[in-house]
Amino acid sequence: MRLLMIHTGGTLLMQPRADGAALSADAIKQDLLGELPVLKQIAEIDSLVLFRLDSADMQPEDWVEIAGVVHDKLEDYDGFVIIHGTDTMAYTASALAFLLPGLDRSVVLTGAQRPLGEIRSDGRANLVDACQVATMRIPEVAVAFNSRLFRGCRVTKLDAWGMNAFGSPSCPPLAELGLGVQVGAHVLAPRPKAPFDPRLEARVLAVRVFPGLDPKLLQGALTAGVRGMVVEAFGAGNVPRLERSLIPAIEAARSLDVPVVIVSQCPRGAVDLGAYEGGAAARDAGAIGALDMTAEAALTKLMITLGRADGGRVAAARTAFAEDWAGELTREAGGRARAV
Ligand code: ASP
Repeated sequence: MRLLMIHTGGTLLMQPRADGAALSADAIKQDLLGELPVLKQIAEIDSLVLFRLDSADMQPEDWVEIAGVVHDKLEDYDGFVIIHGTDTMAYTASALAFLLPGLDRSVVLTGAQRPLGEIRSDGRANLVDACQVATMRIPEVAVAFNSRLFRGCRVTKLDAWGMNAFGSPSCPPLAELGLGVQVGAHVLAPRPKAPFDPRLEARVLAVRVFPGLDPKLLQGALTAGVRGMVVEAFGAGNVPRLERSLIPAIEAARSLDVPVVIVSQCPRGAVDLGAYEGGAAARDAGAIGALDMTAEAALTKLMITLGRADGGRVAAARTAFAEDWAGELTREAGGRARAV
């Protein structure tokens, strides 16, 4: 078995903190296999250092670079492990899932809440788990964290303190790692390698709706040249339609061919724009419901869709969000998670 371990940065490889100092991506340990020789018992592992970033500094162009490397080397390795900061791991995992639609082996992201050099680091277990599942040819982009493997385009960071940093509230874990590894029946089937398309449009905006949100700020984004918006709406996809109504801004977006995609602020359940008047008004103004997609998945899918849209942007987004590219949405009514 041969694995490629791609380093991008994050806490896992940062140096333990001197009293009072912030963790820095500048001080990153280089020789991971020297630190953790146990990994060599799992597979023959090559390392590639792509970046040394706190993932807060990760950019969409970096997702494309990582995906390009994996795509180029797909046949050279049995699986891939990507070491990444936890802060934006859900965005990178979502983007990679959409940029790498043709997979017959695993691409596993992992990281840690505490650096490897600390006694209570979670990095060692996460790395061992990531390498182990990367050898199993689970044909998905996934996140291995705290003894669970999640679908990359379903995962979200839920905890900034606990070791159980990630969850995928609308999709059961792909695998549970206990005494053995239990793999869910909903893992995707292998797909043949697809051509690599690096196009992506980063001029998108995510807006969390809250009581009092001034619709002029959305109009301002349209004037500033935004190409697409993800609106994190209340509950089943509702937005204000009376006082400070967002409906005129959504209509203005449509007239400028700027897609407005609606996700829910609730981690569970799905957008249903027919459920309440606030959602129905948004739908009638042109908004597109994203069912139970995470905000991270919706944003990255919108960027990729817009990058590839040759004609109308709204039409392209409407088509893309009706499709399931990588298991990012649940089609059953109510978007309820299927059992493992
Ligand atoms: N700020 C860090 C990062 O995302 C946090 C972590 O890795 O856990 O790179």
